[in-house]
Amino acid sequence: MKITRIETIPISVPIKPSLAIRSGRGGTHTASPFLLVKVHTDGGIIGLGEASCTPRWSGEDQVTGAHLIRTYLEPMLIGENPLEIETLTQKFRLAFAGNFFTKSAVEMALWDIAGKAAGKPVYELLGGKVREFVPTKWSVSGVDPAKAAEIATWAVAQGFKAMKVKVGINPDGDVARVRAVREAIGEKTKLGVDANGGWSFEDAVKTIERLGESKIYFAEQPIGTEDVALLAEVRKKIKVPVIADESIYTLQDAKTLVRLHAADVFSIYVGKAGGVGPARAIAAYAESVGLKCTVGSNLELGIGSAAMTHLALATRGIDAESFPCDIIGPFFYEDDVVLEPLPIVPGQARATDKPGLGVELNEEKIERYRVR
Ligand SMILES: [Mg+2]
Repeated sequence: MKITRIETIPISVPIKPSLAIRSGRGGTHTASPFLLVKVHTDGGIIGLGEASCTPRWSGEDQVTGAHLIRTYLEPMLIGENPLEIETLTQKFRLAFAGNFFTKSAVEMALWDIAGKAAGKPVYELLGGKVREFVPTKWSVSGVDPAKAAEIATWAVAQGFKAMKVKVGINPDGDVARVRAVREAIGEKTKLGVDANGGWSFEDAVKTIERLGESKIYFAEQPIGTEDVALLAEVRKKIKVPVIADESIYTLQDAKTLVRLHAADVFSIYVGKAGGVGPARAIAAYAESVGLKCTVGSNLELGIGSAAMTHLALATRGIDAESFPCDIIGPFFYEDDVVLEPLPIVPGQARATDKPGLGVELNEEKIERYRVR
């Protein structure tokens, strides 16, 4: 089997305005300029991928992604055997710096091809399920306390048993928002906070201390990515685990965080790591040094969410039971581009047992949401 071409499809599916995520440095996620890819082969199998890229996160969007694939990845991959995933991933890792979400779209499409060729779901190719479903949590936007409490109440009613609240906007407002959410959801629901790097060092330490009253069980990306040593200082001064998210894209980032004792948990995504394989390498490394991983989110659509689910189902280093994952992208959209909705329900993400990533595109919807 050989790769014959790579098709890119810029797409924008509307986000439900009531759920648009407002966060610390992340601004407000009101649109997803994503890029879908189809890796075509001479055997007729087509691999699907999704670059869930947003410019504020990684500097990528659907235009840069399409450009890099057309200019560098497609010429490099045409004529190659798509089943040689490890070799091809290494090749395109070196093709250009960064742009991991773009690379991940092509890498996950190779896994989709491999699964379809073998007649097996991707989780089986990865060694089989280590859990029946992936526990997930809800993410409450950084809105005013009353609205945040309303969203949290809705999430609990849906069935979520864990959630996080976006903070890092201003300390008093953050404390009020988290308090309102805790009051709305009661004691039983696990509650964490995600500052998206929005706090200064001092605000992080003081605010996390104040959030003790709301019994938070983790603080995600309390400060920005600029100074890993400073993140380690925050970690030393607070009592809850630090989840690194924006600070960790690659295995090298993981190593730096470990060396400086800057995190307790890594939030890994297929997109940030540059693919399923690189994300698994981080999880294995974390496991080897006694750290935990969870899976974060950039509000993936169906293909990206399926890839994350297969990863989390088959990867032991992802401790989704202690730190439920953010595989909740599909909830945020008014529509999806996959033919059948994924078996992702509130609190639990599952994959189908169909070959590959187990998703098919709805071509009519692709045309509806294609960016021209
Ligand atoms: Mg985060």
